Amino acid sequence: MSTNSIKDISQRIVKAGRALHHQGLVRGTSGNISARIPGTDTFLITPSGASMENLRPEELVLADLLGNKIRGETSVSLETPMHAVIYRARKDVQAVVHTHAPTATAFGIAKKEILPLQIELFMLLPNGVPVVPFKTPGSKALADAVQKKIANHDALILENHGIVTVGSTIEAACSLNEMVEEGAKIQFLVMMLTGQDTINLAELKKKFKT
Ligand SMILES: [Zn+2]
Repeated sequence: MSTNSIKDISQRIVKAGRALHHQGLVRGTSGNISARIPGTDTFLITPSGASMENLRPEELVLADLLGNKIRGETSVSLETPMHAVIYRARKDVQAVVHTHAPTATAFGIAKKEILPLQIELFMLLPNGVPVVPFKTPGSKALADAVQKKIANHDALILENHGIVTVGSTIEAACSLNEMVEEGAKIQFLVMMLTGQDTINLAELKKKFKT
């Protein structure tokens, strides 16, 4: 894989990070983005303790699929084991985005899954967005817990932490992150309007005829 591709992917990660910051999905030094380098067993990931707002392409770190740093001036993100386990488990995934999107994160704290209530979200996430039980950030236990659920879901909520989305491109994984946050906001509004929490995934599947 040519240096140009790594350069191109680095620039796209930086651009995506800035957009996530502007959308309020990441704040301070929270969140991380990674992207597989096509044709290799490596991926680029945002460094530990970096702000997405001011990230520079040269700060990104190259890691292998076990999460070990291969190249880079800075340390890999704390969440690298989680990203690595996703690339090992899902050959189709080219990018992973982790944010602390506020509404979706609140659902995780309340231990509530996010349901695909709108048809567009349902088409992307027919199995909804389940909550992965709390494990320490950066731990192997968290990576193992994510591995169990990622096979059947492109988006997960990490209890008392944030959300993770995957995609076939960096842009698709970021877009899904935004859509999950929007879905959480809509679900919250529905809960406020109806005063209850009666909709379930089985009913939605029936309604949308899958
Ligand atoms: Zn986090």
